Order: sequence, then C-alpha cells, then structure tokens
Amino acid sequence: MPELIANIAVNAPIKQLFSYRVPDSLRDSVQVGMRVRVPFGRRVTVGFLLALHRGQADGLKDLQGLLDDEPLLSIELIKLLRWAADYYCHPVGQVVRSALPAGLGSEKATTKILTEAFYTPSKQDIQPRGKTQQELLQFIIQRGPAGLGQIREYFPAPYAALKRLVEIGALEMREQELLRDPFLTEKLPEDKSLTLNNAQRKAVEEVTPSIRKSCFAGFLLHGVTGSGKTEVYLQAVEQCLMADRQALILVPEISLTPQLVARFRARFEPRGVRIAVLHSGLSAGERYDAWREILRNNIQIVIGARSAIFAPLQNLGLIVVDEEHESSYKQGEGFRYNARDLALMRGQQQNCPVLLGSATPSFASYYRSEQGALTRLTLDKRVHGGDLPKVELIDLKDQVVEGVLSNSLIEAIQQALEQREQVLLLLNRRGFSPFLLCADCGESFHCPNCEITLTYHQHSRQLRCHYCDYTDAVPEHCHKCHGLNIEPQGAGTERLEQELGELFPSATIARMDRDTTSRKGAHQKISTAMLARSIDILVGTQMIAKGHDFPGVALVCVLGADSILNFPDFRSGERSFSLFTQVAGRAGRASGGGKVFIQSFNPDHYALTCAAEQDYRNFYQQELPFRQELGYPPCGYLVNLVFSGNNNHQVQAAANQFGIYLNSIAKSVEVLGPSPCPLSRLRGKSRYQILLKSTARPALRRLLNRLDDGIKQLPRQVNLNIDVDPIDML
Ligand code: ADP
Ligand code: ZN
Repeated sequence: MPELIANIAVNAPIKQLFSYRVPDSLRDSVQVGMRVRVPFGRRVTVGFLLALHRGQADGLKDLQGLLDDEPLLSIELIKLLRWAADYYCHPVGQVVRSALPAGLGSEKATTKILTEAFYTPSKQDIQPRGKTQQELLQFIIQRGPAGLGQIREYFPAPYAALKRLVEIGALEMREQELLRDPFLTEKLPEDKSLTLNNAQRKAVEEVTPSIRKSCFAGFLLHGVTGSGKTEVYLQAVEQCLMADRQALILVPEISLTPQLVARFRARFEPRGVRIAVLHSGLSAGERYDAWREILRNNIQIVIGARSAIFAPLQNLGLIVVDEEHESSYKQGEGFRYNARDLALMRGQQQNCPVLLGSATPSFASYYRSEQGALTRLTLDKRVHGGDLPKVELIDLKDQVVEGVLSNSLIEAIQQALEQREQVLLLLNRRGFSPFLLCADCGESFHCPNCEITLTYHQHSRQLRCHYCDYTDAVPEHCHKCHGLNIEPQGAGTERLEQELGELFPSATIARMDRDTTSRKGAHQKISTAMLARSIDILVGTQMIAKGHDFPGVALVCVLGADSILNFPDFRSGERSFSLFTQVAGRAGRASGGGKVFIQSFNPDHYALTCAAEQDYRNFYQQELPFRQELGYPPCGYLVNLVFSGNNNHQVQAAANQFGIYLNSIAKSVEVLGPSPCPLSRLRGKSRYQILLKSTARPALRRLLNRLDDGIKQLPRQVNLNIDVDPIDML
C-alpha cells in the first residue's frame, strides 16, 4: 500500500532533496511548506517540506515532527525557490533558508511582545525650566508621540529630564507595544492624489491590462529624475488593489528611500490598506510576524529590499522594481541571486506584470527593451517642467589643482554659496586618504588579511581595511625604514571635507558616507538638515546620489570620476554613466536649471559626455558594440567560479585542476583562467577565479550541470563559490 512520502530540503550544502516517510501520527497535520524535524546522518536536523506524494516507502526514514502548525512557504514560492536554486547553482535547502526571515532556519521563532515607554505631550501648555527639559519637550511636540528608543537617538541620557517632564505634567507616559519600525512612527506627508500627465497616464494604461487579466508582461519605465515615476507606481498599485490583488515593491535599500515608503503609506493606509515594510531594522520576531501576516493574506502591499522578492504573497498582481539598475539587487555572497531578475521570473510564474523603473536603466534591461522582451515606457520630461541641469566637464589636464578641488570648482562653489544655494559634492571614496606612504622609502601599509592598502581615517585616527574591517592604529614611523615622513596619498571624503572647511570657513559642511551614517537615524538626520537648509555643502559617496530630493541644491560637483571610469570591470562605463547622471539629476530640482561640474582627466570619455548631455540613448549606442564584440552581458552570459582557501598553493593547484576538467568538457563555452582574483587575498584567504563565458545560455547551463564531477575532486580545504550572472568580479 502506497505511503505518504515527503521531499525535504535540509539546511546543508547539498543539492538534492531527501525523501522521508510520513508516519501515521503526522498524516493529518503535515502540509507542504512546513518546517520539519528529520534524522539526517547521525543527527536530527531541520528541513523544509517542499513536496508530498504517494509511493513506496521501503527503506525510508520517518519524519520526526513538524515545527509549524501552518505552512511557511506557499506552493508558488517553493516553485520560485527551486527554480532559483537550480539557476544559481546553490543548495536548495540554503536557498529556502535565506528566503525565510532570519531565525527560522533552526529553532522555532518566539515572538515576544516587547513594550517600551511612550511619551505624548499633554494638552496643557507647561513650560519646563531646564534647558534639556525644554529641548526634549520641543522635540516630542514636533515629532509627535515618541518611544524611548527614538528619543535616545537624539538625547543619549534623557531619563531624569523625562521623569521630571512627566511629574510636572508636560508629558504623559504609557507602556506601548514596541515598534522598532521608524517608518511606522514617522509623520506622513499630506497625500495629494495627482492627475497624471500624458506620459504618466500612457504608462499606467499600458500596465493595467496585464494586471486585470492576470498575465505576465515585463515593462521598463525609463523616466528622467523627477519625471514622476513614483506616481506611476502608486497608480499602477491602485489598479492592482482594485483588481483585488497584492503588490510587491522592491527598492534598493529601505533606509535610503524613506520618501517612497512615506508616499505609499500616505496614499493607501488611510483607506485601511495594510502595508508591510520589510527592512533590516526588524528583529527576527518582527520579521516572522510580518511574514505570517503576508502569508495569511492580511497584507496588500509589501515594500522591501532585495530579499523581499521572497515575500510570501499569494495573490500577486504587480511587482515593481524601483531603481532597477542598482547593483544592490544582487546578493554579494552565499546564494548570489539577483532580485531584479527573479522578479521577472516570479512575474512569469505567478502571472503578473513586472515594472522595472529607473532614470538610468541597467544596460541589460534597456537591451531587453530593444529586443522586445520588455515594453519600454518613457517619461522624458520633469513633471514640474524646468530644464535638466547644465553639465560642464572640466579637463583636469588644463587645471591648477592644489588639493582635491580644481580652481574652476572652487570658484563655482564660492558663487553658489554667495547666492545662498546648496552644494553637493560626490567623491566615491570614504576615509581621509586611500593609503599612507612612507616618503623616505616608499613603503605603504597593507591589510594583513587582504591584498589591499589600508585606508587612512583621520577622524577616528585609524587605518582601516574597507573589505574585512581590519583596523590598526596610525603608525608613527615607517616599520621598514623607521622614517617619520608618512604621508596620506589621494583623497577620500574626510579629506575633501577638511579642504572645504579651510577654503570656506563660514560655510556649514556635512558629510554623508558609510562612516557618518552607520548609526541608526543618522542618515535621516543629515537629510532633514539638508531639507531645512542648515547645511551649505554636503560631501558624500554615491550614497548622496540616491533617492534624495533636496530642492535647495543648485550646484553638484563630481570628483574622482577617473577612478570610477577606470575601474577594472566591463561595466565601469555603465556604472560611471549611471552614477554621474543620477547625481547630476540632484541639481536644480526645485528652481529648474542648476549646474553640474564633473572634473576628470578623461573628459572625452563617452560615459562622461553622454552623462553631461543626459543622453541615455547615445550612451547605449556607444556601449553596445563593445559588449557585442566581447560577448559581455547582455550579449553573452557569464559565470564566475571563485576558489578560495588558506593555502595559496593548494588553491591554485585546485583551480588549475578544475580548469583542465572544464576544458575537457566545455562546448561553446569559453573557459577563461584560472587567474588570481583582482583581490587575490581577501579576509585571509587566497583566491583564484575561472570565468565561464558564452553567447549560448543552454551551452553554459549544460556545463554548469556537469560541475559536480569537478567539485568532488576539490580538496576539502578549498572552497568553490559559483556566481551566475556576476556583477562584482573582484
Ligand atoms: P521620480 O520618481 O521620477 O523621481 P516623482 O514621482 O518623485 O519622480 O515626482 C517628482 C515630483 O513631482 C514629486 O514631488 C511628485 O509629487 C510630483 N508629481 C508627480 N507626478 C505629478 C503629476 N502628475 N502632477 C503633479 N505633480 C506630480
Ligand atoms: Zn582586509
């Protein structure tokens, strides 16, 4: 008599599923999508139940128990995950694991309800005495009810003052369920439902039929900055809700897009639509709650970063991928999926349209729109009229440059400040200087774990590795020649900030990079100050090019363009074009016009001249032949195999061996390498890579399907990481 058999993915680096017999005691409660306990080797481990069927159970072990009383994974999601595991050559159990909210891979997540003191201003007008008390009260009145956690971000030790304010009746305190979610406590902007302009209306009308008919269609919304893309998303989502279906909105990074989240909430929440915002600030318990709520169909809109592509929505009507060109959609380690590409796959599997949006589409998406695989929708004008900013390229070869800034730039900044306009400076490198050099013997200082120089951080008086976070004290003398003339070389944002301070002593200068925004709320604070115009000059890394709308900025300067242009990667042109166009788009948002300067030794490079003209089409046409000729994506396909281990010799030998194997079986696939990775040592490991390249995807797939025989031969000390459609090949 046939038995009930469960196919289980265990959370281990193993590709295949394992079969177990479902014992009679579990027959009635077992369901696909649950976590289960199974005997595995000599231990008992957690597995994910991906399929059930009837068959012969001879020799199969029994499932030992269920960890959930309802499924965590829907059938649709399981289909997507299995497809992804196969496509990205990653063990299915680990794929499932990384799709689930953290903490669910092993133990049962316990959701404790945490409470926190909440303070509300009382109705009476009471004036406290102390300065701290006054400031605190002012803060809470302005922000509305605030939790202790929030208050402490701005006032590190508020206890005494809070206690006093409650005593004198200026504040009321009550214990409330803890919302660690900044997006749920923020005041929402006023929502004005907008009448779409023609281009926007056309875009929404193109997407709507597929929402209504529940069928897949891929769209690329190419709209210059400020052209009203977000409003198109909002109204497309409106259509989706009207069709009684759910919407999934992916953004590159939640903390950088508070404005988008706020606009969605302001538009939909007053009508009782429930939105889940999935972001990295959620605790394991909160994530688990959000996941369950989504799974139970209690949520209509999910907004989240990369991993939200796995949100368990069961009745999807639309997927939006905002800023689709962003490389953060690609997971950089472990299960190296690309959420944008998975969005298209999920749309196909679940019969819903997918809308990719950007001012500077990825080359790949634009190429697909040229090929007809995506329908292109164009918004080529800013909503509030106004010209796009004028961009001027400064040739550094003709300039007098003493520090980081050329004379022309100093003049332009001076002028902007005189007219009380805000200035934005992009330098895509944090720290004071990228390396220290002994002026006597030429020795520089390297990370002991990685093959790169340590960045000098003046502010924290440290040398830091930007790859592994190794830190060291700043040396007083050269450890080789004992000379005392150690000089910082090159410039990062810290140095630029300092130089600006010397040049413009009366200006208020702020810096936005990973170092100044690592604390929660810090990013928001700088944004708020920019909006309030209490900052004159903002210096920052590419972070400043993203998601902001600072109406007061009239001048944007781009420094260090050459290091981005000359980055050793076939996408460096695309990245430069995109970054410079995006940052240029920050100028003159309110007033129209605005000025942008890009200083470079290569002002004739097409990525720069096209960015200066904000001419995507031209950029695309100049880039295309280069990709075609070399068979680079999207005109070809790449898979990067990275071998790493402690012993350099062993890793190299293993990579060589693997290369020989690959060459013996490869057909219509180029096997490039092995060669040392550009970062040949990283976090103490030696690294070699083999790049597989082909213009025929099926040929590449066939080769990938045969990797296992090679992997079996690898020594245990050598690790192989497979990166399908790699983005970062360092
Ligand atoms: P993008 O996302 O393309 O940068 P946004 O959607 O943020 O552009 O729109 C820019 C500004 O224009 C926003 O302040 C938005 O409220 C406004 N806006 C967008 N569409 C319209 C419209 N149809 N009518 C009036 N204002 C609009
Ligand atoms: Zn390092």
